[in-house]
Amino acid sequence: MTHYPDKSSNCQWHFTGKPLCSIGWLHPSHDYPQGALRRGLKVDTLAKVLAQLAVARQFLCHRGMHECEFCWKDMCSGALLFPWKDSLFIAPPMVGHYMEAHSYLPPEDFIEAVLNCPPQTSNEYCDLLDDLLHNREDGKDFLEKETLSRAARKRRDEVKDEWLSHLRSIGDPYAQ
Ligand SMILES: [Zn+2]
Repeated sequence: MTHYPDKSSNCQWHFTGKPLCSIGWLHPSHDYPQGALRRGLKVDTLAKVLAQLAVARQFLCHRGMHECEFCWKDMCSGALLFPWKDSLFIAPPMVGHYMEAHSYLPPEDFIEAVLNCPPQTSNEYCDLLDDLLHNREDGKDFLEKETLSRAARKRRDEVKDEWLSHLRSIGDPYAQ
């Protein structure tokens, strides 16, 4: 996996620069902060973070697989996105594996972002991403494709409503 230093705005996605903030793009040729538990992260907080990461929504999965180059026992594709204040943390879905299996300690505000993130299918979450990215050309494209922008969600809901009312009009029992 390509290495990006924590909190850098470099990443392999089609949008780079602020507000993007890379987290956990580890590679064996670069040192990384270790000791999630030794440095005061409580066991139950770590468990909560890992549980959140395990169910997080994965974006941009078409961009190829990453393998864990420390143990070759895990792989993932795409990225997780956690908005936090003016930043958008972008992490590999394997970030939980790095914490659990390789003692990786992500920056504190990433932990905060994960613990405070609204459910990732909620409008609240999509609104946060829309707010952070809608002013960028490349961000707009991503928001549209992933049905994250307010406009794309409105269109999706309209299509759904039309389809449901069509099903009701032909007496489909599942659409009642
Ligand atoms: Zn590993």
